[in-house]
Amino acid sequence: MKIQNYINGTYQNPNSQDWLENFNPASGEVYGFIPNSNEVDVEHAFLAAKSAFPSWSQTSLEERSRILINISELLEAHLERFAEAESIDNGKPLTVAKTIDIPRAASNFRFFGHAITQFASESHETKGFSAINYTLRQPIGVVGCISPWNLPLYLFTWKIAPAIAAGNCVIAKPSEVTPMTAYMLGTLCTEAGLPPGVLNIIHGSGEKTGQAIVKHPNIKAISFTGGTKTGATIAKIAAPMFKKLSFELGGKNPNIIFADCDYDTMLETTVKSSFSNQGQICLCGSRIFVEQSIYTKFKSDFIQSVKQLKVGHPMETDTDIGALVSQTHLEKVLNYMSIARSEGHNILCGGHQVLVKNHENGYYLEPTVIEVNTNNCQLNQEEIFGPVVTIMPFETEEEVLNMANASNYGLSATIWTNNLKRTMHFTEHLQAGIIWVNTWMLRDLRTPFGGTKSSGLGREGGFEALRFFTEPKNVCIKY
Ligand code: NAD
Repeated sequence: MKIQNYINGTYQNPNSQDWLENFNPASGEVYGFIPNSNEVDVEHAFLAAKSAFPSWSQTSLEERSRILINISELLEAHLERFAEAESIDNGKPLTVAKTIDIPRAASNFRFFGHAITQFASESHETKGFSAINYTLRQPIGVVGCISPWNLPLYLFTWKIAPAIAAGNCVIAKPSEVTPMTAYMLGTLCTEAGLPPGVLNIIHGSGEKTGQAIVKHPNIKAISFTGGTKTGATIAKIAAPMFKKLSFELGGKNPNIIFADCDYDTMLETTVKSSFSNQGQICLCGSRIFVEQSIYTKFKSDFIQSVKQLKVGHPMETDTDIGALVSQTHLEKVLNYMSIARSEGHNILCGGHQVLVKNHENGYYLEPTVIEVNTNNCQLNQEEIFGPVVTIMPFETEEEVLNMANASNYGLSATIWTNNLKRTMHFTEHLQAGIIWVNTWMLRDLRTPFGGTKSSGLGREGGFEALRFFTEPKNVCIKY
């Protein structure tokens, strides 16, 4: 099947007739083609967005809200179809797409449909000067949204929903590795009453289509989620044009386990925070630090739980770990097994590719736990982004805090403890944008979401996203 671009409310082939193969990770087979759009396609989308902007930016909040909620309801009505498409395109278990990815994509539209009706700007009474200042929050114009492959529709809509809620028109590019549900979204947007040109979905590679969006002089803001290296490339191009930038980048998150935690909950959640979505979540706790007194027990219980995870075809209901997203990614993750062996680390379980019966060309990998003897090694310093975690013991609070912070990344951190004083100390000093205490991945869409250091720039979520997608203009009136 051939995926098409969604421009001005209609599906279109790319200008260049250049197509990329789309793989099914569970079987390793090509099952479709996607446009590798060029700057001409981006320009078409831009012109459609530009002409839709005057009317969309003046559309009442009630009407925008109604359309966003319509999209949300349509996604819910088509949950099965979207979940199946996401699972085929990405390799994630169907159960995960059904319970996490698609429901969250629907929530993103519903949440920002409501949030825009509550968004307000500041006013300041300037005492002594008989003056009042108020701040307008105006939509930026045409904005670009670029998203990755790990949570395809979930992260795509996390950007689009606030952008259009705030009155902007959007050129959006999903990952070329997982384009399917973004392609399907166009039809629902039309059905929901979104005017043509408000959302334009363009497919293609990062080097070609992504670059054309970033380089376009009149696309005024770029909201990007993806790798840190790509973020740096985009910043280099966009910064001299003074584009507004929001970056959600890589992570290498610490999971710090103290002996006084609620052990069973910690163990169950740590299996999830290590291997959910094949470990391909930027928030996964891939560096596990365990207090020495429970290290031996944890190691044995954790490995026993991990060994019970079933690697299998994503459509099977008892599959815990589906396929990795691509052959290239599988090879990248497998390369870390060689690094582990050559650096003398101890692979406690996993480490090998899995041949799933009847799907031997699929990209499957065993969930892998590696015992490292230092935090200062490639395995603990580089983002692997697969079903691979490291574990090591620690003796003191100071030691583990230093190790947790000794990373270029600073996205999230998890702490397991029942000690309040320690909790407050760690939450104050951990260098991360998101900290979970005695839980993981518990999300409230109103909260600021994003990372520090090489993990990002700015925050998404709640009013933070609506602030990013609007330009503040202060008005001072003397009376
Ligand atoms: P990636 O950087 O390779 O690609 C992300 C998107 O950017 C894709 O749509 C891609 O086509 C596009 N792109 C690539 N090069 C580009 C360029 N030069 N100009 C413009 N666009 C370009 O990332 P990926 O491999 O798709 O995703 C995995 C990465 O995403 C991991 O590092 C992960 O941690 C990160 N991620 C971060 C978050 C977060 O919220 N912080 C969430 C999910 C994933």
